[in-house]
This record gives sequence, C-alpha cells and structure tokens, in this order.
Amino acid sequence: MVKLEGGGGDTIRLMAKQKVVLIPGDGIGPEISDAVVRVLEGAGAPVVFEMHLAGVAALEAGMDDVLPEVTVDAILQRGVALKGPCTTPIGEGFSSVNVGLRKRLDLWAAVRPVKSLAGVESRYEGVDLIIIRENTEGLYSGVENQVTSEVIISMKVATRKACKRIARGAFRFANRNGRKKVSVFHKANIMKMTDGLLLDLCRMVHAEDYPNIEYEEVIVDAGSMRLVQDPTQFDIILCENLYGDIMSDLCAGLVGGLGVTPGGNYGDERVVFEAVHGSAPDIAGKGVANPLALLMSAKMMLEYLGDYKGNKEAAASAKRIESAYLAALEAGEKTGDLGGSLDTQGFADAVIKRLGS
Ligand code: ATP
Repeated sequence: MVKLEGGGGDTIRLMAKQKVVLIPGDGIGPEISDAVVRVLEGAGAPVVFEMHLAGVAALEAGMDDVLPEVTVDAILQRGVALKGPCTTPIGEGFSSVNVGLRKRLDLWAAVRPVKSLAGVESRYEGVDLIIIRENTEGLYSGVENQVTSEVIISMKVATRKACKRIARGAFRFANRNGRKKVSVFHKANIMKMTDGLLLDLCRMVHAEDYPNIEYEEVIVDAGSMRLVQDPTQFDIILCENLYGDIMSDLCAGLVGGLGVTPGGNYGDERVVFEAVHGSAPDIAGKGVANPLALLMSAKMMLEYLGDYKGNKEAAASAKRIESAYLAALEAGEKTGDLGGSLDTQGFADAVIKRLGS
C-alpha cells in the first residue's frame, strides 16, 4: 500500500501497482497481447507488466528451451501472469508449453466462463456456464510409452489428491460465486477406476460440505449431446483434464467461438490467465485476430487481484473494461470472426474510447 497525504489533510490510500508477468506467446499472441496491454493502460489498471518469453518465441530469441527457467522463476516470484497462446506441434516435436507451465506451477484448476454476449450472434441465448477443468493429470498429461515397435500406450493417471482438490475447488467456487449446480462430466462406466475415483470424491465433498449445491453426474458423451440441445441447463461443469479441453472448445462454439472464451489457471500460490484458443497460425501476423478472449482473461486477472489481494482499483478497472467491451460489441464494433469489420487494434480502440473515467 502506498499512503499519500492529500493537500486538505485527507489521507488518500492507493494500492502500489502490482507487477504481473506478461507472456505474449506465439502466432497471434504478440498482436493480441499488444492490444490488451493498450486497453489496460487506457483503463488505468494498477498493474505493471514484466515481459517474459515462452514457446517458439523463446527459441527464436535464442533461448534454449520453450519454457525458460527465467520465465518460470518470474511467475514464481510475481505470482500472477497473463499469457498469450503458445504453439504446440502436432504428433512430434517438443511437448506442450501450456501443459508444462501448469505442471511446473501446479496450476491445478482451469476456470473457463462461457457466456452469451449481446452483439455476438450464436445459436443460443442466455448461456452462462463455467467449465472447471482438472489441469494436472489424466490422459492430457501426455504420458506415453512405446512398449514394442507395434504398441504404444498412453497413461491416464488419477490421484486421490488431485481429484479431491478439484472436487473441493469446484464446490467452493460454486458457493463463493452464487452458483447453484455442479455437473461432473465423466466416463466412469468405462474408466471405472480413474473417473470412478473422481466421482467418489465429488460425492464425498458434496455430501460432507456442500449439500446446498445441486450435484449431478453426467456421462461425457451424453453431456455433449445435452450441451448442444440446451446449454442453459448447465451451471458449473466439472471435468477431468482431457474432457475439459474438449468441452472448452465445444462450449466456445455455443456462444460465438474462440474469440469470446477466456480462462484462468489457478494454483494455491500462483495464477496464470489465458484465453482458451491457441496460437491460430493461419491468421498470425495479419492483424485481424480477436483480442477479446485475452482481454476477458485480463479482466479475470484484475478481478482476482480485487477479490484475493484486496486491490479495489484493480476490481474497478475490471468493471470499466467489461462495460467498455460489452458496449463496443452491442454497437456492432467487433472483429471479423464475430461478423464485424474491425481488425485487432481497431477493436482495442473501440474499447478504449468507451472506457470513460
Ligand atoms: P494451436 O496449435 O496453437 O492450438 P490452432 O490453429 O490449432 O492453434 P486455435 O488457435 O485454437 O487452434 O484456432 C482454431 C481456429 O480458430 C483457427 O481457424 C483460428 O484462426 C481461429 N481462432 C482462434 N483464436 C482466434 C482469435 N483470437 N481470433 C480469431 N480467430 C481465432
């Protein structure tokens, strides 16, 4: 806290600016990060960005790893990061930077709000659900082995510790945010031990501590069908890692696409906010990518600073930014992926001019 003495003897209390790590990432990452930083500056958000590299960008800058130690150390030290997408090669090459970062920092829960927005056309109205994804284990960990020249196995790991903390985290989140129902998506009819363990712990946490929250178990394939029939029947969807990855993109499609779905990765001590989408190499460098999902992730970061670090200025700038981007969308000022005609920086300008004071 910085304490300033005002001229009239009043005491004005201002929060010191929070140092936050910014990882621009690969592909469209640098362009959308640039747009988001401009909006946060325009909103007077009380953060100072400290830029660090990860992904292909780190290799291109001459560093010897896609996840440099200096970047991990910076997040360990600052505790909060805003991250652009990092490219993951398909079927070969280095392993995912995103997965590596989540594991190194033990960012065990991904929280991904999926909400209909006025001005963004989609097949559905009134969608307002949150995906909570276990972030550290399951098949998505990519633990694979070549057993013989003809046989490869991929290991699905579930631990009591990780299942219990994600179950508890989901119900705690529901309670804290006035949510009414947790639906756990699973395949425990087939994966009786791994997905069965998650169900056991969800039932236990629900019965012991959160009987006030409605709880349901939904087989993931049937849940996918129910989602596309009527997504408004869901409130919080709790998933193990791989199902959470797939459901995130499916749900993005329910509300207008990857341009409008933000996310936060939470650990006990550290948080990293990032959009659900990837590095979109097909449009990288063209200046047309939608920066909104990363901007919404930055808004979540400011809300986190408000809620968990007591930074009221951050909370206020989150509200200002949200009102401004909602107003821009309602006025039809949006990027091409949402049917508009603005480019990346044009959308940032449309938000900035609506920030007010
Ligand atoms: P990666 O390998 O990094 O995951 P990808 O192209 O496989 O990249 P996404 O980046 O998620 O996966 O992109 C999927 C599709 O959505 C692409 O056609 C991409 O152009 C589009 N897309 C993703 N993010 C955005 C965005 N912010 N603005 C506009 N289009 C986007």
